[in-house]
Amino acid sequence: MTLIDKIIKLKKEKNAVILAHNYQRPEIQDIADYVGDSIGLSRKAMEEKEAEIIVFSAVDFMAESAAILNPDKKVLLPTLGARCPMAQMLTVDEIKRWKVHYPLVPVILYVNTLASAKAYCDICCTSANAVEVVNSLDAETVLFGPDHNLAEYVQRKTGKTIIPIPERGFCPTHLLFQPEDVQVLKMKYPDAVVMVHPECSVEMQNTADFIGSTSQMCRYARKTNAEKFIVATEEGIIHRLRKENPRKQFILAYEDAICPNMKLNTLERLYMALKKEKHGVSVPEPIAKKARKALERMFELKS
Ligand code: SF4
Repeated sequence: MTLIDKIIKLKKEKNAVILAHNYQRPEIQDIADYVGDSIGLSRKAMEEKEAEIIVFSAVDFMAESAAILNPDKKVLLPTLGARCPMAQMLTVDEIKRWKVHYPLVPVILYVNTLASAKAYCDICCTSANAVEVVNSLDAETVLFGPDHNLAEYVQRKTGKTIIPIPERGFCPTHLLFQPEDVQVLKMKYPDAVVMVHPECSVEMQNTADFIGSTSQMCRYARKTNAEKFIVATEEGIIHRLRKENPRKQFILAYEDAICPNMKLNTLERLYMALKKEKHGVSVPEPIAKKARKALERMFELKS
């Protein structure tokens, strides 16, 4: 029996579901019940009624969100050390420090934050709905964290004053993309459409024909007539894009754009986590209660 067969068998026996982020390894995406971005996975986790176990193949903050939204289920992370460095950049103390200076200004936090930080925000957002979330608030100034590139993107789109907290929070993987690499690729593929994730630098965003989250990129690639795409986000997305669009060509804007944290998850680790039901993720209820409110407020807006 192959490892994949063993995982599928175990999944059935334990009534488990596997959710995988778009940045996961191809072999994990292929066995997952659902592959998506932060908002899609959070929604899926929230809607999941049958399964008793959710194996969340991604990084810490996403599994935490699943645990917050599903307090009665067991949420497992295949690798305990799969942590998002950007999420670690915003602490509760930092939020409190900014709130002293802006006591009446709402705090909007990207879902790429730890549960402890979410508990101190008014509403969460993802890269797919950040503009919509900011526009929904009756406030001209907001505190927004932790990604300052996404903050700048939202400021351009909404015309509101977006104060990034911390001042320079960033995703190390998305900062690897450089406009010069896009220029070189554009010489080779002049008719290619450039898709850029808003976690990339503003200079990179300026090279884009389309800016969006990973799921928005997938939708755009499916709908547009373009046949070639230069893609600026973590390399895991290329697998899904090629699978969904076998006749189209996808070129990563920087071939080493790999998130080492996302890639810590392997089939072996996923299997062991499910078999031993280890690396359970839970959030203390007082924190979960507040963080859930911020997440649910975002979902209500969407619906
Ligand atoms: S790609 Fe960036 S934001 Fe996403 S998990 Fe990796 S480090 Fe965090």
